[in-house]
Amino acid sequence: MQQISERIQLLNEKNANNDGKYVLYWMQMFKRTEYNHALNFAIQEANERKLPLVVYEGLKYYYPWASDRIHTFILEGIEEKRKAFEKLGIRYVFYLQKDENSPRDTVARIAKDAALIVTDDFPCFIIPKHNEAIVRRAKIPVYAVDSNGVIPMSCFEKEEYAAYTIRPKIKKMLGDYLKPFAEEKVSVRAGDLKIDCPDTEVSEKNIAELVSECAIDHSVKPSFLYHGGTKNGRKRLKKFVSEILANYNEARNKPEKDGSSRLSSYLHFGFLSPLEIALAVQEADAPKESKDAYLEELIVRRELSYNFTRFNADYDSLKSLPEWVHKTMREHIDDRRARVYSLEELERGETYDELWNAAQREMLETGEIHNYVRMLWGKNVIGWTRSYEEAFAILEHLNNKYCLDGRNPNSYAGILWCFGKHDRPWMKRPVFGTIRYMTSTSTGRKFDSKKYIEWTKTLGQGKLF
Ligand SMILES: Cc1cc2nc3c(=O)[nH]c(=O)nc-3n(C[C@H](O)[C@H](O)[C@H](O)COP(=O)(O)OP(=O)(O)OC[C@H]3O[C@@H](n4cnc5c(N)ncnc54)[C@H](O)[C@@H]3O)c2cc1C
Repeated sequence: MQQISERIQLLNEKNANNDGKYVLYWMQMFKRTEYNHALNFAIQEANERKLPLVVYEGLKYYYPWASDRIHTFILEGIEEKRKAFEKLGIRYVFYLQKDENSPRDTVARIAKDAALIVTDDFPCFIIPKHNEAIVRRAKIPVYAVDSNGVIPMSCFEKEEYAAYTIRPKIKKMLGDYLKPFAEEKVSVRAGDLKIDCPDTEVSEKNIAELVSECAIDHSVKPSFLYHGGTKNGRKRLKKFVSEILANYNEARNKPEKDGSSRLSSYLHFGFLSPLEIALAVQEADAPKESKDAYLEELIVRRELSYNFTRFNADYDSLKSLPEWVHKTMREHIDDRRARVYSLEELERGETYDELWNAAQREMLETGEIHNYVRMLWGKNVIGWTRSYEEAFAILEHLNNKYCLDGRNPNSYAGILWCFGKHDRPWMKRPVFGTIRYMTSTSTGRKFDSKKYIEWTKTLGQGKLF
């Protein structure tokens, strides 16, 4: 593996196929046609070789937690991409692999006629394994490009301890990266290039039918609130910047209000780039404290999570926690839990705690939980399970199964934050030891929790506020 530039890694040592008919960009996580460093690099490579560019995107049926909700959100972004790529002169192929009888190995198949492959460098979930697999099989160069954050992940040399260690580094570099993005253009248009790969036509009208034909979990229904695609993401961004941002500093801690960006799912699937969002926020007419508060979340907190999953191979387990947490967990492992709930009880939101049940309801109905109650949601499960490992497994499962923004570096950093990751020791308590403790009673006093609870009961009617 060789770092070619801040955002680009060459993953193997193969020669380019000089008879290649195109450059191939395997779009996995940056599902957008603008503000995309991987796409830009692929265009540059194609132009240098005077070849057209083919963008391949696949959706398989067997990734962990595959469901109607996740599939629908991804499919909602396909038609607009196909149209945008056509205008750009780039050939876009989308393949929906419905079940075990559908053709497999499509990336290898489409790579046979390629000069080289460009893919997305995303530091968690199934993507690192996908990239390892394509490197094992490819006879041509494979480049992985990082378009995850405002600042390239390679600017940090090791795992950062907490927000306070990464923040000054980000502040120093931000001016160099928070700049308009220069979009590349292809010099050879793809035209009606023949591609040896199935291509699935997707339109607003056939999404439900396509999803119903896939061998995935049909019990997790599509979100009534969040609809996939860059256009929908930009619509929300516009509303956020013009109507919500001004009060973000206060309203973001009020789950009963529409007071935060609600953009995390668009960020997770790469429908929106954090650079585009950060620039829009920077230019907005809003008080400095609100803009700063937002950029702290979008850049410092988010990029801390990406740094964590990039450098810590144990990001999806308690092993990645600092030593002080392991010590306190060893001391409190046998503390009596006042109540223990099963995964099924938690999943259905059947606890004695109305606020917790409401957070679970928000997740089941919309596909997200407000940040403020999400912390409480995670913390409480630690107190209601037989072991810390069981608590982690339940949180990972529920978050990744129901949340559109799940399966992301933020999912792991967020869940592990509940166990003390990126935090410090606090006062000693039963079960939690010195891990920061939160109760529904005290958290619920900081906002209108009654209103929030009632609001979650109306979500089935498909309304926001
Ligand atoms: C238990 C737990 C699980 C979580 N799981 C996820 C998850 O699966 N996916 C996810 O994206 N976030 C997760 N978070 C972090 C945070 O809750 C969400 O990013 C936030 O609720 C998204 O809502 P928003 O877009 O309105 O955020 P805003 O308040 O509008 O923030 C803007 C952006 O900053 C980033 N951000 C905000 N808060 C955090 C944070 N604490 N850490 C890192 N980045 C942050 C997000 O990308 C967010 O979209 C989790 C937090 C906890 C405590």
